[in-house]
Amino acid sequence: MRTNTVLISGASIAGPALAYWLHRHGYAVTVVERAPAIRPGGHAVDIRGVARDVCAAMGIMPQITRDRVHEEGFAWVDPAGRRTSEMPASLFGGEGIVAEYEILRGDLAHILHEATRADAEYRFGDRITALSEGDDGVEVTFRSGRTERYDLVIGADGIHSGVRALAFGPEERFIRRLGAYTAYFTMPAQPDLDPHWFLMHGIPGGRCAGIRPENEHTAKAMLSFRADGRTVDPRDVAAQKALLAEVFAGAGWRVPAMLDAMGDAPDFYFDVIGQVHMDRWSTGRVALLGDAGYCASPLSGLGTSMGLVGAYLLAGELARSGGDHVTAFAAYERLMRPYVKQCQQLPPGGVRGMLPDSRWAISLRDLSTRIMTRRPFAALMAKQAAKADAITLPAYA
Ligand SMILES: Cc1cc2nc3c(=O)[nH]c(=O)nc-3n(C[C@H](O)[C@H](O)[C@H](O)COP(=O)(O)OP(=O)(O)OC[C@H]3O[C@@H](n4cnc5c(N)ncnc54)[C@H](O)[C@@H]3O)c2cc1C
Repeated sequence: MRTNTVLISGASIAGPALAYWLHRHGYAVTVVERAPAIRPGGHAVDIRGVARDVCAAMGIMPQITRDRVHEEGFAWVDPAGRRTSEMPASLFGGEGIVAEYEILRGDLAHILHEATRADAEYRFGDRITALSEGDDGVEVTFRSGRTERYDLVIGADGIHSGVRALAFGPEERFIRRLGAYTAYFTMPAQPDLDPHWFLMHGIPGGRCAGIRPENEHTAKAMLSFRADGRTVDPRDVAAQKALLAEVFAGAGWRVPAMLDAMGDAPDFYFDVIGQVHMDRWSTGRVALLGDAGYCASPLSGLGTSMGLVGAYLLAGELARSGGDHVTAFAAYERLMRPYVKQCQQLPPGGVRGMLPDSRWAISLRDLSTRIMTRRPFAALMAKQAAKADAITLPAYA
């Protein structure tokens, strides 16, 4: 059995990584992305554990090393900007909350696109609207009106995956909401802030604002808040901005500057903090990869590593099985599931720990941040990061 053509939905992290490995194993790859170009935006994501080995095998570590953020740690600040507690990166030898290889998500997406654009066909501004599986392939209908046949279709299109909705059912069945929303966007640089620290400010009412300086012109802003029963359409950007303005009205520190910048931000991103849990990641000739199949949420710090590792395994198992997708999908799932299970277990505290609701709880969180930097508690923090190594990658021919 030989599978030759693969359509991947989603060109962020997992999709282009899969395109790389499939091309290397001899497949003809098409990637369809609903955005008009590689999406910019996001904060720093971590490349941890075996995911670093995957990037090294792809030959992209020099670009990642060149573009990674140089962060000395993160600190909580009060409304006047004074530090109340901090977590230096050096404490954990680059494997703690702040990883040695942290890179802005948009920069990593660009590196992966650059590494694959000559070998895979990228189609931006389009998406899959229907899938119909036959004996020898999947008939795919696109929003643009095109219809084409592929041997396999892989959904690497994130927590709100379109492929998952078409092949497995509505997202409510698979997304476990953790009770909070988060937004990321670019804002003007704040020259008086330390350029090497990610600063966060806790606000009563389960809210948090963060700024990560980027260069002399820009910084990355983050606003997170407890959902408390509020819902918002994942595609309605105007409603998301209005909700942020309402929730953060009257907050201090740099929040007014952040709300000002949000209006015109070229890379505004807003989403629910949630996880994806599924009994299986494939059906027939369709399979899921990355956040589409097993999102762990930004609280895990492991989502990008999981997408990179999953791409390596999925392509490797397809090659190993000679294109027999039934065998390959089963092996991908067998190898990946224990790793995903570990990565989806969140560190103590979860959303409530990140977003305390009262001044008292914010002071307690500062205290626990200070305690966490001391032995033996520091070992607890290192445990979450160590999960990134909890898999042995097979070597594929
Ligand atoms: C703009 C953006 C910013 C992010 N910022 C952060 C961050 O700061 N911190 C963090 O921890 N995680 C962030 N994430 C999530 C993080 O990238 C993932 O958790 C992880 O890297 C796994 O990536 P993924 O490729 O599986 O999914 P994602 O990175 O979510 O990528 C999914 C891709 O599929 C595309 N897509 C969605 N629906 C369709 C469709 N129907 N058809 C075709 N394409 C579709 C999306 O536009 C996107 O490019 C961000 C994701 C995005 C898209």
